[in-house]
Amino acid sequence: MPRLNENYLNLKESYLFSEIAHRTAAYAEKHPQQGAQIIRLGIGDVTKPLGKTVLAALHEGVDAMGSAETFKGYGPEQGYEATRNAIAAYYKRNGVNVDPGDIFVSDGAKSDTGNITDLFGPGNVILIPDPVYPVYVDTNIMCGNEVTFLNGNAENQFLPMPDPKQHADIIYLCSPNNPTGACYSREQLKIWVDYALQNNAVILFDSAYEAFISDPELPRSIYAVEGAEKCAVEFCSLSKTAGFTGTRCGYTVVPRELVFRSSTGERMSLNAMWNRRQCTKFNGTSYIVQKGAEVVFSEEGIRECQENIQYYKRNAKVIADTLEKLQIRFFGGVHSPYIWFECPNGMDSWSCFDYLLENIQVVGTPGAGFGENGRNYFRLTAFGTFEKTTEAMERFVTLFG
Ligand SMILES: *Cc1c(COP(=O)(O)O)cnc(C)c1O
Repeated sequence: MPRLNENYLNLKESYLFSEIAHRTAAYAEKHPQQGAQIIRLGIGDVTKPLGKTVLAALHEGVDAMGSAETFKGYGPEQGYEATRNAIAAYYKRNGVNVDPGDIFVSDGAKSDTGNITDLFGPGNVILIPDPVYPVYVDTNIMCGNEVTFLNGNAENQFLPMPDPKQHADIIYLCSPNNPTGACYSREQLKIWVDYALQNNAVILFDSAYEAFISDPELPRSIYAVEGAEKCAVEFCSLSKTAGFTGTRCGYTVVPRELVFRSSTGERMSLNAMWNRRQCTKFNGTSYIVQKGAEVVFSEEGIRECQENIQYYKRNAKVIADTLEKLQIRFFGGVHSPYIWFECPNGMDSWSCFDYLLENIQVVGTPGAGFGENGRNYFRLTAFGTFEKTTEAMERFVTLFG
């Protein structure tokens, strides 16, 4: 009999989205008339199709596969040079220097944020924000790591800062944040970078929503902060930027400056380790997808992606303006597709879910699904249509106005 990875027994059952689906279906069955009126603002997935430029490039990639002269087999595990150069140029456009050789193209940020635990041994002090994208916590539990939570709350605007008295080895940060929509300022990230350098720690920075940032003062990459190349890995994704949730492409930056010492004093480069990890366990992102990814970062590609992002952000504004008018305290909704509001009347997040479903047939995501600190909060997303979002907010006004 195989001995199993019993750390899996320590994972909390992930019933969030199945429970939402279950409660919604049960309600609709019992109340068919109201059930037909349900508006879903819990979607954590984009809804707009790929842009024309990307689509044309994907077709080109497909056609190349059909003739012997242009056919591609296994590609470089790190990604094609053209894709890596396009990503580096995109960073440059946003005022950040990243060496294409430090960029690893992948099938998405979930894989990379999850697989990065391969590089670290046991016994680290690992800081993870609460609430946050559940992948960081679950992947650490899977390898038996203990996690220290960084408390996000209304007092710190859901942007926890380091405690200089507390030592850390590994720090996960996500900005703009899923689920809260909160976004760190340059000054705040500088404090994190200085803290990491002082502790000889590594920051694992998830910038999956960087394309939603429109204020030029807010950093879209941790490398916009001085010293970050000496302490930070950055994960990014085309999922929310370019609607690639189903097409699959992401990238991770592991600067060659990230060198730490082994227990016997040997120098170990995270870039070399990640390269070895990817070459051993990953055979690269498909050529076709990389053809599409490359043009996401062209002038025309960026323009097309921004059109969709602006559409989502208009929805976010409708939600934010409504909550403001209703004096419901919320976070996010500006540089993010997420609006994170405090459940009215002291409700916990699942009671709030039922209350909204039963009274105005609006479905969202209970904050409890993202950590203990989300238990009295609720996430709405801007990925619906403008019409449905507006209608949902009209219903909010009748319920809470
Ligand atoms: C959606 C999301 C990602 C992207 O994951 P992909 O695997 O690239 O689709 C990464 N991090 C966060 C916080 C997300 O919300």
